[in-house]
Amino acid sequence: MANWPDWLPIKNALRANKIYGAPQLQDVVKLNTNENPYPLPESVVTELTSEIASIATSLNRYPDRDAVKLRSALANYLSSEHVTTENVWTANGSNEILQQVFLAYASSSCIGLSPSYSVHPLIAQITGSEWDSLPLKKDFTIDLNALLKRIQETSPSLIFITSPNNPTGGVVEYNDLKKIAEYIKGRSTLLIVDEAYAEFSSEKSAIELIEDYPQVAVVRTMSKAFAFAGARVGYLVADSNIISGLKIVRLPYHLSAVTQAAALVALKNVKLMQSEIQIIVAERIRLREEMTKLGLRVMESGANFLFFTGFQPKSQELWQSILDRGILIRDVGIEGYLRVTIGTPDENEQFLDSLKTSLR
Ligand SMILES: *Cc1c(COP(=O)(O)O)cnc(C)c1O
Repeated sequence: MANWPDWLPIKNALRANKIYGAPQLQDVVKLNTNENPYPLPESVVTELTSEIASIATSLNRYPDRDAVKLRSALANYLSSEHVTTENVWTANGSNEILQQVFLAYASSSCIGLSPSYSVHPLIAQITGSEWDSLPLKKDFTIDLNALLKRIQETSPSLIFITSPNNPTGGVVEYNDLKKIAEYIKGRSTLLIVDEAYAEFSSEKSAIELIEDYPQVAVVRTMSKAFAFAGARVGYLVADSNIISGLKIVRLPYHLSAVTQAAALVALKNVKLMQSEIQIIVAERIRLREEMTKLGLRVMESGANFLFFTGFQPKSQELWQSILDRGILIRDVGIEGYLRVTIGTPDENEQFLDSLKTSLR
C-alpha cells in the first residue's frame, strides 16, 4: 500500500493500488513483456522516416478523428470478407481499446478467467466496474460449463476471454467461443475476445464469428506480431454498433497523426514486418522441447511465450537467479510458475544456459 500524502485527494478505490508494470531494466536480455525481439526492417525505417517528414508540416492540424485510412488498411489486412472499415476501431494500443470498452459497456458486472491478462481486472477497477473472476481448470483450460452457469447467474455486461491466453499460452477453441456466443444471444452481454497473440496461433480467429454473432468483439494489437509495440496501435473488430459506443467515450482526436501515419506504413509492409513470426514459432517449439529435457513442465503455447513450472526454488528465487545471469523473464505472481518470452535464437540459448546453471 502506497503512502499518499494527506493533501492528495486520491479516490478511495485506488488508495491500495500499486503502480502497474513489469520492471524496465537496462543492459539485460529482455524476455519479460512478450515483445517481438526483431527490430524494424531497414527499408521500413526509411519509409517511416520520410512519411513522418511529409506529414510534419501539417501537425498544426488535428488528426483524422476517426482514423478512416488506418481502419481501412486494418480491415484489408484482416482479409475477412465480413470485415469492412465500419467493423474496425483503433486506439493507442489494445489497452486503450479495452479501457474504451469498459467505459462504454461495463453496465453490470464483468467476468474474466483466472489466470489471464491482469490488465483486464485492472482497467475494470480504475473505471469503477465490478469484476468477477472465474478460475481456469487445474490444467489451465477453460471450464465452459462453469462459465455458462456463471453467465446465467450474474448476467454480466462483459465477458473477457484471452486466446492465446496470457500468461499460460493456452488457446481456446473456436467452437468453444462459438458456444459462448450462442449462449449470450438475447442477453445484454458482449463477449470480448482478446487476441493479442493471434498471429502466432493456428487456431481460427473469433473474427469469423462476428457476422453471425454481433455480440462478439475481438481485440487485436500491432504490439506483438507486428513488432510495433513502441508505436502503440491496437484495434477492435466488431459489429459497427459496438464501435458507435466506443466513439462516445474516446477522447477527441485520441490517435495522433504521427501514430496513424506510422501504422499505415507498417501495414503497407506487412510481409516484412511479420517475416519473423515463423522463426519465433519454430523457436517456441524448440525451446519448449529443450526446457522439457531439463525436467520442467512447459504449457503448450499458441503465443510468443512459454509458461513453465516443475522447478524446486521459489519463483522469485529462480527469476532472480536468471536475472543475475543477465536475462529478464517474468514472474507473474503465480507461485511455482514463470513466463518467458521467445527471443532471437541467440537470446533463447542464453536463457537456456542461465536456466541450466540456475537449476543445478
Ligand atoms: C500485450 C497484451 C495486450 C496489450 O497490448 P497493447 O496493444 O500494447 O496495449 C493486450 N492483451 C494481451 C492479452 C496482451 O498480452
